[in-house]
Amino acid sequence: MQLVFLGAPGVGKGTQADKVVAQYGIRKISTGDLLREAVRNQTKLGLEAKGYMDQGQLVPDSVVIGLVHNGLSEPSCRSGFILDGFPRTVRQAEELERVLNDKMLRLDRVINFQISREDVVKRLSGRRSCPKCQAIYHVEFAPSPRGALCDRCGESLVQRNDDRREAIETRLKIYEDQTAPLISFYEKKNMLSHLDSAGTVEAVYQGLAQVLAAYDKA
Ligand code: AMP
Repeated sequence: MQLVFLGAPGVGKGTQADKVVAQYGIRKISTGDLLREAVRNQTKLGLEAKGYMDQGQLVPDSVVIGLVHNGLSEPSCRSGFILDGFPRTVRQAEELERVLNDKMLRLDRVINFQISREDVVKRLSGRRSCPKCQAIYHVEFAPSPRGALCDRCGESLVQRNDDRREAIETRLKIYEDQTAPLISFYEKKNMLSHLDSAGTVEAVYQGLAQVLAAYDKA
């Protein structure tokens, strides 16, 4: 299966992608995860990206396109992949088509995860993560049993800089202006499936699994 997961920040794409990876054994290429890793490792690319990310701005196309190009070049992608958080602009989507053509790959489906703006703000502003093992919690919906400490490794949980109120507003505005146009871009190509993502992780995954059943050639 060769998939793109599309949707506003906080919609749960990454969580659902992890479940698909666990079930189908395909690769996840998350530009957000790759960029955060680069920031943690203080690479040149990470240092360039950090300022944009902290403010909720998009990192320049040249940087993210390079990351996706490298990811798709790995042989493991031949058995399937999910692009999570990429493309985020029409220009990135066009570039993706070129990269896939070059590699003789193609997309099976683009899944558009949908929830209300109000729910997005609730999910993002309550999200906490562990800077050591990257576990994710939510103060209301999925709190750590150890309060402000990570249940897995005991580290103090933190709020991502881009999950603060001001950055959330910026990210949502950018989503509406630059990413939402991808809905009609992929709709015109008959590649899009809409998925209601307001429910629990399990409920959303059930809906997703039904959509994906048509593309599972294993
Ligand atoms: P995410 O975890 O997908 O919400 O991404 C976190 C941040 O990484 C975004 O707010 C952007 O700053 C940056 N980022 C991730 N993917 C992209 C992309 N496709 N294009 C530009 N910036 C991106």
